[in-house]
Amino acid sequence: THFGFESVREDEKQGKVDAVFDRVARRYDLMNDMMSGGLHRLWKDAMIAWLNPPRGGAGWSVLDVAGGTGDIAFRIAEAAPAAEITVLDINPNMLDVGAARAEKRGLADRLTFVEGNAEDTGLPASSFDAYTIAFGIRNVTHIDLALKEAYRVLKPGGRFLCLEFSQVEMPMLDKIYDLYSFNAIPAMGRIVAGDADSYRYLVESIRRFPDRETFADMIREVGFERVQWRALSGGITVLHSGWRI
Ligand code: SAM
Repeated sequence: THFGFESVREDEKQGKVDAVFDRVARRYDLMNDMMSGGLHRLWKDAMIAWLNPPRGGAGWSVLDVAGGTGDIAFRIAEAAPAAEITVLDINPNMLDVGAARAEKRGLADRLTFVEGNAEDTGLPASSFDAYTIAFGIRNVTHIDLALKEAYRVLKPGGRFLCLEFSQVEMPMLDKIYDLYSFNAIPAMGRIVAGDADSYRYLVESIRRFPDRETFADMIREVGFERVQWRALSGGITVLHSGWRI
């Protein structure tokens, strides 16, 4: 960031990401179902299952970063009726959609929506029992800063859990997945959101994201322990887990 050139490119990245979610906010949930064939629901359910929030845990608090329209937060709210849930996202349009959905589901008083950046949330240190981030960390400009921030806001004994797209390592499935990603996804983006480029950008960001082992090392690097991952659906997505001891 000492060179103008670099910081322009970094500004551009977050700007591009924000523009994508500005354009798609209202159609985001529909697009998710279409593009994943409904699979994103299973992946999110798998995340909550592994998180295993305490049912009766009054005062148990979770921060859902890049929480967007609330999919992860709503699932946690249902699994753990006493949990205190904060949804943080950089995009106010996504948060507005999330807040409206929370209202409809009667969950408005259980969720707090906060506009902020995963790299520097502005939230107090050591204040959450769990930190979740689903399909979000890939969009962040400095992944290492976001991971450090996750560690900082977690209480000692707190859990980090991340759901993200990964690399398909099954023969055949990888070819099908490539065809699907580079052709079908931008085409659906054009039809449903009137915007193929945004979705092309998202597909490219998936390709650039570090592989599972590298990402696990990055999580260890900031101090998390007992770091593990589980691949879902042949590796289309992966869950990474770690603990602040
Ligand atoms: N977690 C939700 C889900 O799984 O449905 C939303 C995921 S959506 C693909 C990615 C979200 O990341 C968007 O809502 C976007 O605004 C948010 N985002 C992008 N960059 C961010 C940043 N630096 N800090 C916080 N949120 C960010």
